[in-house]
Amino acid sequence: MLDNRLTHRSSLYINGRWCAPENGLVLTDVINAADGSVLGHVPSGGVSDIEAAVQAARAAFESWSNLPPSVRADYLMKIQDGVVGRAVALAEIIAQEVGMPLKMASAIQVGLPVTNLGGFVRAIDEVEWEYELGNSSICREAAGVVAAITPWNYPLHQLVGKVGGALAAGCTVVAKPADIAPLSAFILADAIEEAGLPAGVFNLVSGPGRVIGDALSGHADVDLISFTGSTAVGSRIAKTAANNITRVALELGGKSASILLDDADLEKAVKTSVNNCFLNSGQTCSAWTRLVVPRSRQEVVIELAITAAKKLTLGHPMDEGTRLGPLACASQMASVLKMIKAAEGSERLVYGGSAAVAEVPEGGFYVHPTIFADVDNKSPIAQDEVFGPVLVIIPYDSVDEAVAIANDSAYGLAGAVWGADQERAVAVAKRIRTGQVDVNGGRFNPAAPFGGYKKSGYGREFGALGIEEFTELKAIQQ
Ligand code: NAP
Ligand code: MG
Repeated sequence: MLDNRLTHRSSLYINGRWCAPENGLVLTDVINAADGSVLGHVPSGGVSDIEAAVQAARAAFESWSNLPPSVRADYLMKIQDGVVGRAVALAEIIAQEVGMPLKMASAIQVGLPVTNLGGFVRAIDEVEWEYELGNSSICREAAGVVAAITPWNYPLHQLVGKVGGALAAGCTVVAKPADIAPLSAFILADAIEEAGLPAGVFNLVSGPGRVIGDALSGHADVDLISFTGSTAVGSRIAKTAANNITRVALELGGKSASILLDDADLEKAVKTSVNNCFLNSGQTCSAWTRLVVPRSRQEVVIELAITAAKKLTLGHPMDEGTRLGPLACASQMASVLKMIKAAEGSERLVYGGSAAVAEVPEGGFYVHPTIFADVDNKSPIAQDEVFGPVLVIIPYDSVDEAVAIANDSAYGLAGAVWGADQERAVAVAKRIRTGQVDVNGGRFNPAAPFGGYKKSGYGREFGALGIEEFTELKAIQQ
C-alpha cells in the first residue's frame, strides 16, 4: 500500500518550507494510468507562487553559487541517499502515474536518476571551473536562477537531469513538473529538504503549465529555462523568454530511425529495436520509431518484429507478467488511437492496430502494440511523433537512401545503426543528423551529453557538459 502522505500533497515547496498556494488551495487529481482511478493529488500553484519561488531562488543564489563545488557535490550525494531511501515508493508511484511496468520503472524511472545523480557528483570534478588563457583567467560561473519545466514520461529522470546539473553548477532552481505525473518531484523535494539544502536553493511549484508557464518563462529574474516536452510548448517558451533575452535549453520530441545494414545480425537488431520502440509504451522521446531495412530483407524483418512484439504482454503495470503498460493518460490514448486509425486507411498493418484486443484492466489507457510495414517515409505515420506503441518499417534500396530516410525528419534526437562491419556502421552513424546514435546496441552512457538537433531542440544534459550548460564564462585580464 502506498503511503498517502507521498501521494496526497497539499503544499508547494518554496524558500525551504512547505506552504499552501497563495490564492487558496485547489487540488489537481493524479490519475492511475492502469485503471483510471485517483492515485493522489497535488496543489495547483498560481502566478503569485511562481513569483515567490523565483524571489526565493534569487535570494539564495549568491551564497549557493559561491560555495566550493565540492560542498555542492556533498549535498548532491545526500540528495542521492534520500532518493535511494525512497526508491521503492518512487517506483510504485511512477509505475502507476506513467504506466511503466514496475520492474522496469524501478530500474529506469528510479535507478537511472540515482545513477545520474552520482554522475553529476563525479562530473563536478571534471568541469574546469577556472583556467588560464594568456593574460586571462577564464572562470566558469553559475548562470543564475534556473526554471526547470519537465514532462510526464520519465518524470524523475528528466527533473534530475536539470536539477542535478543546475545545483552542481551553483544555480538555484524553480521546478515545474507536468500535471500528469508530478508526484516524484514532490518526493525529490522531500529528499532535498532532508539533505538540508539552504532555503530557496530548490523550489517546487506544481500547477497547469498553460496558467503558470508564461509567468516562469517570461520572468525577468529567471536566467535560464531548461525545458523538456513538446516542440509546440518549447517554441512558445523560447519566444516568451526572448523578451528578456533569457537563455533557453530545449529537449523536445523525436522520430528516430534504427538502420539495419545488409550485414546486420537481424535477430538481435530487430529484437532490440522493437523493445526500444515500445519502451514505456512508446512514450520515449528518443524511441527508435522507424525501422529502416534493406528491401530484400523486409519480410524476414516483419516476422522477427512480430515475434518480438508478441512477447510484450499488455497489462497492469503492477502485475509481474506485464511487459507493456498503459499510456499515461486518456488524452494520450485518444491521440495515439487517432493516429493509428488514420494510418490504417493507407498503410500495411502487420501487427496490432486500433481494433486489436488484449485482456487489460477496465478504465486504464491501454493501446495494443502496433506495427506498419512498407511505409513511405513521407507518410504522416513516418513523420509525426506518435508517442505511443507504434513501429513503422521502412524499406530502402541503398545505404545512401537509408541515411536520407533517417535524416528526412523534422526531428534529430537519436537513432541506431546495425551492421557486422563496425567501421562501416560507425561511418553511417556519423552521417545521421541527431544528438545520439547507438551502434550495434551500444549501451546508454549517463556521462555522455544528451540532446537534439533540429526540432528536437538545443542544449545538452547529463555529465560534465550537462553541468556546463548551467554556467556562464567570465574572462578576467591582468
Ligand atoms: P508538454 O505539453 O510540452 O508539457 C511539458 C511541460 O511543459 C509540462 O510540465 C507542462 O505543464 C508544461 N507547459 C505546458 N504549457 C506550458 C507553457 N505555455 N509554458 C511553460 N510550460 C508549459 O509535453 P508533454 O505532453 O508533457 O510531453 C510529451 C512531449 O515531450 C513529447 O513531444 C516528447 O517527445 C517530449 N519529450 C522530449 C524529451 C527529450 O528529452 N527530448 C523527453 C521527454 C519528452 P502541464 O503538464 O501542467 O501542462
Ligand atoms: Mg501537455
